[in-house]
Amino acid sequence: MALSGIEIYKFLPKTNCKECGFPTCLAFAMKLASKSVELSLCPYVSEESKEALEAASRPPIRLITIGSGEKTIEIGNEVVMFRHEKTFYHPPGFVVRIKDTAPADEVAKLVGEVAGYSVERVGMELKLDGFAIENDSKDGGNFVKCVELVKSKTDLPLILMSSDPSAMGQALEKVSSSKPLVYAATKENCDGMVELAKKHECPLAVCEPEGLDELTDLVEKVTAAGVEDVVLDPGARDFGQSLAIMTQLRRLAIKKSFRPLGYPVITFPGEAATTLEEEALLTGQQVAKYAGIIVLDHFSPGMSYPLLTLSLNIYTDPQKPIQMAPGIYEIGSPRPESPLCVTTNFSLTYFSIAGELESSGFPSWLVVCDTEGLSVLTAWSAGKFDAERIAKTVKEFNVAEKVSHRNVILPGHVAVLRGELEEELPDWKIMVGPREAVGVGVFLKQNWTA
Ligand code: SF4
Repeated sequence: MALSGIEIYKFLPKTNCKECGFPTCLAFAMKLASKSVELSLCPYVSEESKEALEAASRPPIRLITIGSGEKTIEIGNEVVMFRHEKTFYHPPGFVVRIKDTAPADEVAKLVGEVAGYSVERVGMELKLDGFAIENDSKDGGNFVKCVELVKSKTDLPLILMSSDPSAMGQALEKVSSSKPLVYAATKENCDGMVELAKKHECPLAVCEPEGLDELTDLVEKVTAAGVEDVVLDPGARDFGQSLAIMTQLRRLAIKKSFRPLGYPVITFPGEAATTLEEEALLTGQQVAKYAGIIVLDHFSPGMSYPLLTLSLNIYTDPQKPIQMAPGIYEIGSPRPESPLCVTTNFSLTYFSIAGELESSGFPSWLVVCDTEGLSVLTAWSAGKFDAERIAKTVKEFNVAEKVSHRNVILPGHVAVLRGELEEELPDWKIMVGPREAVGVGVFLKQNWTA
């Protein structure tokens, strides 16, 4: 069982020096007990106390890294059941399965498409994470050829899938320096796979579909043999099974601090799906509950974009909205006489209005106020988007020097600020724009004459 805050407190220096960022050692101990901070924040804990506290301060789900160099997939290290309790840290890795029975030209084409896929959302680049190469042919030679082909086309992380330690060993000889995930140790091949994972220092997936007791036994065997980086495959495939088992695994790790199952989980949504839509739906479920790495059987941009967006939404810290830096932004190539709009620094708000301005045919200036990442109405109702703050931003970023006119367009939702803003910016004409970003193009056509 994890230690309570009071038990942890006994091991701390009790000087209340505040260097950890908390006002007292007790406050820090309480945070350690909830697994939301690292013990390393306190520089004064003795070595003996560190050892004693290590188990209490260690994240309940081990952080596993697949791949090497700049492109890696990091999974695990989660500390809560629900994102609103704190946040989820490591979004699931999306990898696409390639079978070694597929023709080489098809493999090369698919690798190129997946590796080259990229979309931008709220200023972030969303991409898929790697490939799972399956020894479908059951032939070691074919497996090695396919692994080498994929490796020659991409430096994205790999999962090697074979039940045969001999084929796995041959493939690892070629690509072990890139630290692929070895999939998978089972009851039948456990000793051979453990030896390979240890020899090549690669993470090892453990697959046991018979039940969680059996999975626990196998994981304990693997870890006792010296493999520390483990990924779990409990064998759950369909919607109901997957939801139940994944939730159980997360509860055991987070609520019960059950170390043998404190590892991230790999899923295969395509194996239970009869259509592409079902695969996408099941993947969505597993993004929310609680996959560490998801092996997709199909790739299409239409399926990838919503899944990556869902993952981004779920793994964004709910207490820290994605924000833009306050300032004045150029949309297109604005001139001094171009329109000037004001908005908040919530990224989604910024990109909505920036996108509409871009397609409106009016290159524009966009003043972004610091509203702590809140959208227009939320910020206004929280008192973080008011006339004083808008005027302060206009002055702070010398907006008057950028434009030759004195017209500023407010979002329609905060039309109520017009009077106050006229008082704060007496030299400016305050215009009330549309309530929704989508209306800004029509608004400018009808109203902008500067
Ligand atoms: Fe206490 Fe250590 Fe935090 Fe100082 S840094 S307040 S000694 S826990």
